[in-house]
Amino acid sequence: MNSSLITVSYLAAAALFILALGGLKTNITARRGNLFGIIGMIIAVLITIIAFVDRNLDLLIVIMAAGGTIGFFLSRRVQMTQMPELVAILHSLVGLAAVLIGFANFLDTSIQFTGVEKTIHAIEIYLGVGIGAMTFTGSVVAYGKLSGMIGGAPMLLPARHWLNLALLIGVLVVAVLFVGEIEHYQATIWLLVMTVLALLFGIHMVAAIGGADMPVVISMLNSYSGWAAAATGFMLSNDLLIVTGALVGSSGAILSYIMCRAMNRSFISVIAGGFGTSGGSSTAGGTSIEGEVQTIDIPAMVELLNGVKEVMVVPGYGMATAQAQHAISDIAKTLIKKGVNVRFGIHPVAGRMPGHMNVLLAEAHVPYDIVFEMDEVNDDFPNIDVTIVVGANDTVNPSAQEDADSPIAGMPVLEVWKGEYTVVLKRSMAAGYAGVDNPLFVKPNTRMLFGDARDSLDALAKAI
Ligand code: NDP
Repeated sequence: MNSSLITVSYLAAAALFILALGGLKTNITARRGNLFGIIGMIIAVLITIIAFVDRNLDLLIVIMAAGGTIGFFLSRRVQMTQMPELVAILHSLVGLAAVLIGFANFLDTSIQFTGVEKTIHAIEIYLGVGIGAMTFTGSVVAYGKLSGMIGGAPMLLPARHWLNLALLIGVLVVAVLFVGEIEHYQATIWLLVMTVLALLFGIHMVAAIGGADMPVVISMLNSYSGWAAAATGFMLSNDLLIVTGALVGSSGAILSYIMCRAMNRSFISVIAGGFGTSGGSSTAGGTSIEGEVQTIDIPAMVELLNGVKEVMVVPGYGMATAQAQHAISDIAKTLIKKGVNVRFGIHPVAGRMPGHMNVLLAEAHVPYDIVFEMDEVNDDFPNIDVTIVVGANDTVNPSAQEDADSPIAGMPVLEVWKGEYTVVLKRSMAAGYAGVDNPLFVKPNTRMLFGDARDSLDALAKAI
């Protein structure tokens, strides 16, 4: 294939990927963004196959068809609430692919480099395999934590920082040995040693991170998967893979930064791990808070909403599990028709993935102009008559501000308790994802509406 045609096609695909990222900036343009991404990827895959595949095309087609079919059925079957774990497992596949391609490339002795080129190629392979291996196991552990197969509490080994340092030094030392090795067999052993170290590092890094920090981990793994792909691009001398990997890597890094800022945490302290359960007196299960719990039922809630002017809805992960977004959307519409100013306040880490709540509310046709970021509404709570907390917990926990010893101290939260009344919809007194008790539930102006959020909201929608 003509090389300028390949370059033009690759440029077009890269431009489409950039447009895709731009489109994902808002809910309104996200579908268009996705479409750009799909078209860009089709161009990228087709041109790469036509231009570079000169043998085993039939095998490639069979494998792509198998992978595509699995992907198609997985994406059709997956529930909205399972999206975070799906994203995590997909990141793991990118990491695994980088490892396998790295080894395949290294073991392929038909390509011979000499001098500086050999050194550069060895570094490319080392980086691709290393970042890929870390991304692979890190994402598998993240999948386990997000799906509940592994507990959310951080695994805090006694000398964990030393262990991390030892693994890092080990990887650097082996890098020098690998790059300087002339004997191919011995170099293969060094590459294998580093792969094992990187696999262990990925497991340890994510296992040591506490529940409340998982949003940063997801975006961080997203970023790593991009850098692994970029390193693979260098290894294969494929410009488009380098550009695409760099786009994913840098956008993931920016998202990690945004998430860290939202949690008031430094990136280093997240990586150092432990936030969410170390210190404090909290226990998962949330039975140690003291105070009187006041419950409310549907008729009393109808009464409470009678004649109100300002209502704030604060959704959290429970809204996703209960699939209560349509019911709360109906209630909001009814209240708006009655002249109530209804707004939705969204915490940046509510749910289990960035933008989780926004996606669900968009699906339920909640108008965009009544959905606000935390910073836009947090000062308004003193003017709110009733705040309806739908399955949110950590993101509305006052101990982040009131208890310096709390494991989540310093994390910005929605100050729902400052309104006149707060109604919390959840099934029990259990703690949220971070495993921290929530004193909001016993504040004098809080009313607990126990039960599945969807059942409660369906009943409320009927009653009002
Ligand atoms: P939480 O996870 O803190 O709490 C959710 C609450 O929903 C639970 O306390 C649960 O209580 C309740 N709930 C569950 N199912 C139902 C149901 N069917 N009906 C009613 N209530 C239900 O949610 P938040 O959104 O406030 O906080 C998100 C947490 O997840 C933060 O700690 C964040 O750091 C973390 N996280 C966020 C990610 C992101 O990218 N956004 C990624 C990974 C983690 P009960 O069982 O009593 O019903």
